[in-house]
Amino acid sequence: NAQLLFNQIPKGEPTPETFKYNTENKIDLEQKLDNGAHIVKIICVSLDPYMRGRMRPAEVKSYSPAFELHKPLTGHGVGVVIRAAADSQYKVGDHVYGMVPYQQFVLIPGQQKVDEESKKFLGPQVGLRVIKNEEGLPWSAYIGAAGMPGKTAFMAWKEIADAKKGEVAFISAGSGPVGQMAIQLAKADGLKVISSAGSDEKVAFLKELGADVAFNCKLQSTSHKTDDAKKIFAEHGPIDVNWVNVGGKSFEEELEFMNMHGRLIGGWISAYNGESYGVRNLFQFVAKRLMMRGFIVGDFEASLAVLQQNINAKYVDDFYATIPKKLAFGDLKFKECKYDGLESAPKAFLEMLAGKQSGGFGKVFIQVAAD
Ligand code: NDP
Repeated sequence: NAQLLFNQIPKGEPTPETFKYNTENKIDLEQKLDNGAHIVKIICVSLDPYMRGRMRPAEVKSYSPAFELHKPLTGHGVGVVIRAAADSQYKVGDHVYGMVPYQQFVLIPGQQKVDEESKKFLGPQVGLRVIKNEEGLPWSAYIGAAGMPGKTAFMAWKEIADAKKGEVAFISAGSGPVGQMAIQLAKADGLKVISSAGSDEKVAFLKELGADVAFNCKLQSTSHKTDDAKKIFAEHGPIDVNWVNVGGKSFEEELEFMNMHGRLIGGWISAYNGESYGVRNLFQFVAKRLMMRGFIVGDFEASLAVLQQNINAKYVDDFYATIPKKLAFGDLKFKECKYDGLESAPKAFLEMLAGKQSGGFGKVFIQVAAD
């Protein structure tokens, strides 16, 4: 039962030693199952920037739990139930989505411990959600465009953007799974979209997604890097909705080009490996009456990690009723970047975080097994 273990807390950028691929673990797939238990074969797991934040000492608190040293990493995955106790809430053959340990097979105990408050919002499927996939999407889509990052874009757009036709949106890191969806949602609402990414190939893709203006942030002299970005914002701005995927020094430039009463959706990948850049022009918030709000998708989506908190699942039904169909019909585009086998995960994670995926770009995931 191969696993991807959290091996070492990184200082700054993670390294291959942050992880350990472990082939020693054993699981008895024929064992007797009772009390609602089931065994899931993992098909694919997601690698996401927020996981860098979980690579920290346990005593440092944050919105998502720290990974446990020498235990499997956990995160969003899709699997198929291969065995189920007679009283399990799942059937053999059910495909399920949710937080899972990164290993080939997972024994999941019954859900008796689920608290009543969570059940009220989410129904019985609190831990793992059964995915019917009548749309025939690849299973990986359910951890990407139709999964956590897609939900981040969909829910934050509804919750914070307050978008109006004719306004201007700026979306950094536009070729990642959140950016891809955000660009298309903004276009669907009639906004003009400016977006940036780190290579010419990515920039071409931003245009395919519908971005009106797209630029390569790595070609410029500092972070977004001075003149080119400034010229673009001066010509095509001011920005009404700023999706701050990257943040840092480039954010300082963006603030100068925000419109009055602009809205900003918080993210800050530029600081994930170290100290945050000290933005010097925050007075722009006062002068322009700006509103920025941090957003954590877990506040709006079920996962085992957040069962004990209050979850407001108000967007979940709408998301699953609309987004997978649009992806399947091609009304929304999505691009994925696949790595094969859990042993490829350390390389894949480092490349994803740096934006240098050897196998292309888009939503990075690990294909653990065929479906
Ligand atoms: P992405 O694939 O977009 O994130 C990785 C990309 O970010 C890289 O490919 C690179 O793109 C860019 N990047 C990384 N480091 C830097 C840097 N130092 N400076 C500039 N660009 C950098 O991931 P997602 O689409 O999954 O996520 C986008 C953002 O949304 C992230 O900040 C993520 O943490 C956040 N997020 C927040 C959630 C929430 O609930 N709050 C949930 C999900 C995501 P490029 O090559 O184009 O520069």
